[in-house]
Amino acid sequence: MRDVSKPLTAVAEHRTRVAALVGLMPVLELPVSDCLGLVLARDLVAPVSLPPFDNSAMDGYAVRAADVAGAAPDSPVELPVAEDVPAGRTDLPPLLPGTAHRIMTGAPVPAGADAVVQVELTDAGTERVRLFAPAAPGANIRTAADDVTTGDTVLRAGRQLGPAQLALAAALGFGALPVRRRPRVLVLSTGSELVGPGQPLLPGQIYESNGVMLATAVREAGGEAELLRFVPDDVEQFLAALDPRLEEVDLVITSGGVSAGAYEVVKDAFTGRGVEFGKVAMQPGGPQGAGRYRDTAVVTLPGNPVSAQVSFEVFVRPALLASMGHERVERTTARAAISTAITSPPGRVQYRRGAHDPESGRVVTPVGGPGSHLLSALAVANCLIEVPADVVELAEGDEVLVRYLHSP
Ligand code: AMP
Ligand code: MG
Repeated sequence: MRDVSKPLTAVAEHRTRVAALVGLMPVLELPVSDCLGLVLARDLVAPVSLPPFDNSAMDGYAVRAADVAGAAPDSPVELPVAEDVPAGRTDLPPLLPGTAHRIMTGAPVPAGADAVVQVELTDAGTERVRLFAPAAPGANIRTAADDVTTGDTVLRAGRQLGPAQLALAAALGFGALPVRRRPRVLVLSTGSELVGPGQPLLPGQIYESNGVMLATAVREAGGEAELLRFVPDDVEQFLAALDPRLEEVDLVITSGGVSAGAYEVVKDAFTGRGVEFGKVAMQPGGPQGAGRYRDTAVVTLPGNPVSAQVSFEVFVRPALLASMGHERVERTTARAAISTAITSPPGRVQYRRGAHDPESGRVVTPVGGPGSHLLSALAVANCLIEVPADVVELAEGDEVLVRYLHSP
């Protein structure tokens, strides 16, 4: 039985406890292409300018603007083509007055040239070229450091790295970037009733599902996950599965075995060994535990699949994001009008599964009931409807807080 003398823990308090347990991951240098989704740990300072040199913005002819000042369709200026300058040419002969260099986009503009006439305004000659239009000084030239100057701070620490940020880093010549590494998480699914796919279900058995949910949710949050499924409700077997893996991981997440019945393997194994158990003022997901077992952070989630998933969302996901240096660990929220009346238990935050289409209005529809075993409703929901602890009923049209279950 639940110790009724023990007060419920507030959601925010348990969340803070879990975040503190996981802590910050160390900073290391990772190859740029492995940094997708990670957070830059130090400001990124440009070691070179972008562009590094004056280069042509067009395929055309590098000239002195003064040499082509009088060019017009009916009175072209004709110049000898002294050089061919494709992109990548690194020996840079200067342009002599009264000559042109045929030049391609991205090729270095030769010293002595101050404009590029685009090929479409010429006869495209290779020995001599007829230019039918003038060019103002600077025309079609991308000036060195136009974009970035050596020494500029181009990205601040804390910035999440996506394709655009990684491209900038690559353009500046970085092969690796300082990031906080991904937390390594061991997921253990406990329950003697659990079996795997391909096995016919005996009476009393169910297919295991929390393992794949938690492992993929860890990966979605940016962590690395390893999964130990089918850990039976036996303390010795539980510890035998867990103990050899402790050193490799930053966090252990268990599911099941923490509520008030008998055979609560997680509770039995960890009680008195650094993990505290209690009830958090929420529904679903009341029974929770957290602590350090043999110096490794442990978060114990309830076994009911919806409870496990909501608990991950509320407690573990923000902690994992914070551990990687994310400044923002909250999902996007919105306010919406609930489509139907619902009730909520007193003194507990209720998380109902909801469907909300921000494109088509401000209405959120609860999906399925409050039961913590209703996995199919969760699978078609796109948000959690958060009902505060002091609210026990909501009428149709009342405003609620919606937390999306996907990233922005
Ligand atoms: P427990 O917290 O171990 O008492 O489990 C609560 C409920 O969740 C029971 O109905 C379990 O069968 C179910 N459950 C526990 N772990 C899992 C799991 N890994 N996959 C699917 N259902 C589970
Ligand atoms: Mg169980």
